[in-house]
This record gives sequence, C-alpha cells and structure tokens, in this order.
Amino acid sequence: MENSAVTVAVRVRPFSAREKAEKSSQVIFMNGQETVVQHPESKQSYSFTYDFSFCSVDASDSNFACQQTVYETLAKPLLLRAFEGFNTCLFAYGQTGSGKSYTMMGFEEEVGVIPKFCHELFSKLASIKSEVKCHVEMSYFEVYNEKIHDLLVTREEPNQRTMPLRVREHPVHGPYVAELSGWLELGNKQRATAATGMNDKSSRSHSVFTLVMTQTKTELVEGEEHDHSITSRINLIDLAGSERCHSAQTSGDRLREGASINKSLLTLGKVISALSEQALTKKKVFIPYRDSVLTWLLKESLGGNSKTAMIATLSPAGSNVEESLSTLRYAQQARTIINVAKVNEDTNA
Ligand code: ADP
Ligand code: MG
Repeated sequence: MENSAVTVAVRVRPFSAREKAEKSSQVIFMNGQETVVQHPESKQSYSFTYDFSFCSVDASDSNFACQQTVYETLAKPLLLRAFEGFNTCLFAYGQTGSGKSYTMMGFEEEVGVIPKFCHELFSKLASIKSEVKCHVEMSYFEVYNEKIHDLLVTREEPNQRTMPLRVREHPVHGPYVAELSGWLELGNKQRATAATGMNDKSSRSHSVFTLVMTQTKTELVEGEEHDHSITSRINLIDLAGSERCHSAQTSGDRLREGASINKSLLTLGKVISALSEQALTKKKVFIPYRDSVLTWLLKESLGGNSKTAMIATLSPAGSNVEESLSTLRYAQQARTIINVAKVNEDTNA
C-alpha cells in the first residue's frame, strides 16, 4: 500500500482570437511551481503553488509547456504506475474554453494526453516478454444529465459496453493504431453530434475514457502452474465546464441540464473538500460519493485505491479572472487529498 497525494497541475492556454480582439490583458503568470494572478481591478495579487504550473501562453515563456511536456510530466508517470498494477486517473477541470479537451484529446497534429497515452501503452505492451499475457479493454462514455451514455454504441453494435483491443501488434504500423483511433474518433464524434441544438453539449457533459489492462504470468510454484495477474484501471476524464457549478440557468431543459451538471460537479467539489478535510484533520469524514453519478464512478480515483492527478486549465485573460481564481482554489484543495493505492493482484491455481 502506498499513500500518495493527488498530483495537481495547472495550465494556462494562449489568448483566444476574441480575447485578443477585446484587448484583454494577461493576468496569470507562472514561475517554477508557482502561479500568480494579478487581479486587473483590485490590483491584488494571489499566489498558488502546485506540483506543476504549465504556461502555454507563448513559446518564449520560461515555463512554456507544449503537449509533449504535459504528457511526459503528468501522464507518463501514471502509465508507469499502471504497468505496476496500480489504478490510475487523470482528470481535467476548468471553465469552458480553457483547454480541457485540447489537453486531454488534442487538436489535429497537437495530439493530447489520451492518444499519446494509448500509443505508449501499446508500444510498451508490444515489447513485453511473451510469457506475459496482456489483455486491454477500453470504454468511452459520457455522463450527461446524471445519465451514462456509451459513446462507442452505434446502430450496428447497440449492446457494446467495452471493447477488447488487439495487443501485441506493432504500435506504429500495426492495425491497433487504426482500430483505437477509429474508436476514439467515433466516441468524440458521438459526444459532439448528440448535441441538442443548444449550446455546445460537451461543455455540459463529463467524458470518461477507461482502459482496463491485465497482465497475466504463469508461474511454477512447487511444480504446479499458477496464473498470477495484475490489473490496472486507467480513467482519463474531461469534465464539464466548471462554470456550470455556479452560473444561473434559465428554464426548461436547460434548467434540468444545468441542475444535473451542477449536481455532478458540485458533488465533486463536496467530495474534494470532504477528502481534504479528512486529510488535514486526520479524522474520518463522511464523503458523499453516492450523491452523483460522476463521484460514484470516480470513487476509487478520489481518496481511494488509485494514483490520481488533476490538470486545471485556465484562460490567461483578465476578463476571466474570477473563473480562473475559482479554478485555482479548487485545484489547491484537490492537492491535499491523500489516496491509498495498492497493486491489484490476483493469483489462482
Ligand atoms: P474546453 O475543452 O476546456 O472547453 P478547448 O480544449 O476546446 O476547451 O479549448 C478551447 C480553444 O482553445 C480550442 O480552440 C483549443 O484548440 C484552444 N487551446 C486550448 N488550450 C490550448 C493550448 N494549450 N495551446 C493552444 N491552443 C489551445
Ligand atoms: Mg471541451
């Protein structure tokens, strides 16, 4: 068993065309692990320390982090833990338009964490000794309106829940690349096209990409063959826009959606603060995992048996300073959570 705090990184994206047009000033600055916010009105400055402060505003910044740096620093250590048999989880939190999907999925050649993670996982599997049998399953779904929707279900395959994936194919030229990216593309498309004609649905839903990897070795114990397996569940999550936590909703459907998104994100907030209180006071605190679908799904990843990391994404602009401060406080609280991770082992004759 290993106690470990949730690793927390923050990332600030470049200015958007709109922020540039509005001549919004830069209010977030990073130096080493430190993130500083200079409030454009009150002129007050706020300072926060995280495991990593990634600045992606422009390439000349000394803290500049590109997609590869974010992957190497934050996600790759989780991949290594997964191979040791630990559950792992990375989730992206932040207001809509701050760079969660860019970080997790990426954009065109600027490939994000999820495809990079899969690519490296399969290259590593291809190089593992052949006496170890490997099995990988993926699933990709979203939580929308407190309901779970499978993003890999199509009319042709209405009952698909998880996809067993081919392993041991060549990671660069083998069929796995096409197979996996095909599934990812399908999932991303379904996340987008299920939109109901209202505002961008992806800002209201949480997407959960999961890989379950099992490595099995047959060992000879006193002349008898035993299968020894280690399993890791890997959750890579792109949360709904954090502004859904507090913005006032209008009416009807939108109200229902707003309310339920509030529910999952609000409950996530409550779970994080309860876990943080528990870690600080060293007293048992009630953790309301069951109050929302998302927190129920993330139960093990938060305060449980998992190596967990969070990336909080930010806009650099003065016009978003209040949202950014709220994201930074949330991230600071998450940093106090302690998880107790163990290797998932199974031995049978
Ligand atoms: P979110 O998923 O949080 O709503 P997106 O990831 O869709 O936000 O990002 C909004 C826009 O900003 C997209 O056009 C995206 O390509 C761009 N963007 C976000 N983060 C970065 C970054 N680090 N570098 C370059 N462009 C980024
Ligand atoms: Mg998004």
